[in-house]
Amino acid sequence: MTAEKTRERKPAARKRAGLKRAPAAPRSTPETRAGHVALVGRPNVGKSTLLNRLLGQKVAIVSDKPQTTRLSLLGIKTTERGQIVFIDNPGIHKPLHKLNRRMMSYVDSSFETADVVCLLIDATLSFGKGDAYVLEILGRTAKPSFLLINKVDAVRKDRLLPLIDKYKDLHPFREIIPISALKGTNLDVLERLLYEVLPRAERIFPEGSVSDQSERFYLAELIREKLLGRVKMELPFVTAVYVDRVERRAAGAPAGEGSRSAAEGGETGDADEAAFSSDAGGKSETRRGKNLEEFSADGEMEREDGAPAPKTPIRAALPDRPPGYREGRTIDGKQRRDLPVTFVQASIFVERPNHRQIILGKEGRVIKNIGIEARRDMERYLGTRVYLDLQVKVRPAWRDSADVLDLIEGQK
Ligand code: GDP
Ligand code: MG
Repeated sequence: MTAEKTRERKPAARKRAGLKRAPAAPRSTPETRAGHVALVGRPNVGKSTLLNRLLGQKVAIVSDKPQTTRLSLLGIKTTERGQIVFIDNPGIHKPLHKLNRRMMSYVDSSFETADVVCLLIDATLSFGKGDAYVLEILGRTAKPSFLLINKVDAVRKDRLLPLIDKYKDLHPFREIIPISALKGTNLDVLERLLYEVLPRAERIFPEGSVSDQSERFYLAELIREKLLGRVKMELPFVTAVYVDRVERRAAGAPAGEGSRSAAEGGETGDADEAAFSSDAGGKSETRRGKNLEEFSADGEMEREDGAPAPKTPIRAALPDRPPGYREGRTIDGKQRRDLPVTFVQASIFVERPNHRQIILGKEGRVIKNIGIEARRDMERYLGTRVYLDLQVKVRPAWRDSADVLDLIEGQK
């Protein structure tokens, strides 16, 4: 397929994402290069880590659990040379549920959109059945492909050569590059080589675009990341997060209109929360206060007439910070009490009552910590204080329910 043809598909995705088109391209051959680069590979090889490191921003959530990424997400990097639109994807695996079939359909469509496909592998693991399956899937596309051998920070150099030998016979890779997404090793080389392959074209998205996710989806993902960080192996597969409501309140407005469930992860126990929790009420009913301003003021939620409002793509995402980094007590250097408040109400879906129990934890401790961590990220992202109301709901077999899947995907 020609680059021209591929590019024609892109407006639809852009429209869905609520992103504006870059100004019309002039007729003459542009100086810049631009295109889409799909990141694919097995679960956990480091695709999302790579995306974030390349962008210097946390566009995609990362965890040590498989199937963290469920949709494809764009990460847009604009430089003097042009623009690379990276497509982060769910890990390639054999789909058993409707959810997983959808996840794999994202991989397929990213092959179509991509100008270059980057296959990531984990240098710490030996070649296995899953890798053979991934190569079979990669064989579906004739697009130029790069092999990125990731996590080289964690292996001895002599492990790389046999891997390279193995892979170069199995697929006609255009480049094979050992990288460390975590440490940033060889990412400059990767970027340079990608630009060599991308077509001469004007930038696809206006400068300043970061991703195609809505703010609401991003908030849900931040919660899911903290959840994945705090639960054991099988739970990640059966949990989903849906943000029911986001409302902003002006600075100085009285706080405390929000609801909280018995075991929510809102405030308390966190010294830097004192300013907020002291007047945060703790009422069990949700009421919409007079001075609550719908987040949809900037086009996020449903309009009065029930029609879905256009989505606001996320602004500059969180800075990509090393693991374990802790924020100070102020947000962007401002005192908490001077900041407006955002009220976020979200549901965590699980499939069975015992899953719910695990997420709540003894005396609600697990959910509380999830809430504290998620709220910290949300505050840094929104630049406001955040009042977070988290509820854990049991929805048997949601992974095979088209309705629930539509609802969750619809956030993006
Ligand atoms: P994805 O499922 O392919 O998107 O993988 P993630 O980006 O979520 O990463 C999975 C796990 O691998 C996380 O625990 C990352 O911290 C870890 N990881 C990713 N890249 C590297 C790397 O270059 N070196 C090491 N040592 N770990 C990495
Ligand atoms: Mg991922």
